Amino acid sequence: MYPPRPVLSIRDLHKNFGNIVALDGCGFDVPRGRMLGFLGPNGAGKTTTMRAIFGLVRLDSGSVSWDRQPIRPHDRLRFGYMPEERGLYPKMKAHDQLSYLGRLHGMDQDKASDAADYWLDRLGLADRRMDPIEVLSHGNQQRVQLAAALVHNPDLLVLDEPFAGLDPIAVETMSDALREQAADGKAVVFSSHQLDLVEDLCEDVAIIDAGQIVVEGTVSDLKDAAPIRHLELEVEGDADTLLNTLNGVRSTKFDGVRHTVIIDADTDLRGFLARAQDAGRLRHFSYTTPSLTDLFREAVQ
Ligand code: ATP
Repeated sequence: MYPPRPVLSIRDLHKNFGNIVALDGCGFDVPRGRMLGFLGPNGAGKTTTMRAIFGLVRLDSGSVSWDRQPIRPHDRLRFGYMPEERGLYPKMKAHDQLSYLGRLHGMDQDKASDAADYWLDRLGLADRRMDPIEVLSHGNQQRVQLAAALVHNPDLLVLDEPFAGLDPIAVETMSDALREQAADGKAVVFSSHQLDLVEDLCEDVAIIDAGQIVVEGTVSDLKDAAPIRHLELEVEGDADTLLNTLNGVRSTKFDGVRHTVIIDADTDLRGFLARAQDAGRLRHFSYTTPSLTDLFREAVQ
């Protein structure tokens, strides 16, 4: 199957802040109808890249295009952004804030007001619609911030750590809303440090490290092609001696019960498994493709 055609293309972005290199050739694509998890360690360049999509960073070089054209200001009316520094007016009521933002993006008053109510209801805030933003809890302010990115029904959603600090119910509500947006043909990019959640939600990921994309692709292709495998082992007694006989070990972790071992994909496990069984008291043995967390660690370590 051909990969879907990208609608947002980020090419070879460079940006220095004084002698800090924030972006060093960053580039990736986002197709319509897909959700891309934009991952990277602190300070890797995620926020700077997202800000570049909205023209909020003066790039040293590189380009961002939408539908194969350089982005024009009116294209951005069809984009929704949830910035890292949440930007709502604290004294303004939630509903008024959202309908105001809808109007700024070209909606008429009635449509903007209806869309504000729709999203407040959809994100579980119908009964807080007349509350000023400043009296809402952190998580509820974040829900309003997501509604602010969605209220004008954008074709592209760019969300900077939308899940940070949310309770599990809010995470589910947001996840459902984002899945729905992608299913509806929107292009969705979000950054997150919650890799299990990204693995659950996203078909595509791009990992940035020191301003460069070091991994890009579908989660399933990346897992299959990875040169590593994820092994979990639980034995009674001395596991260390047993593990010392295993070849191709890249890293090991022990949580008090279970050993998690990252090994080379071409390691032959037959002898090891036989030794584990001979040692007796083998409680658990699993061998799988790496998780997104494993891939992330390998990519940025
Ligand atoms: P985090 O996961 O911590 O939010 P990030 O991947 O979003 O990090 P950026 O915020 O893009 O990283 O920062 C990339 C680098 O650029 C960092 O070294 C940061 O300190 C630097 N940087 C970003 N904005 C500025 C600025 N306005 N002035 C100076 N340095 C900056």
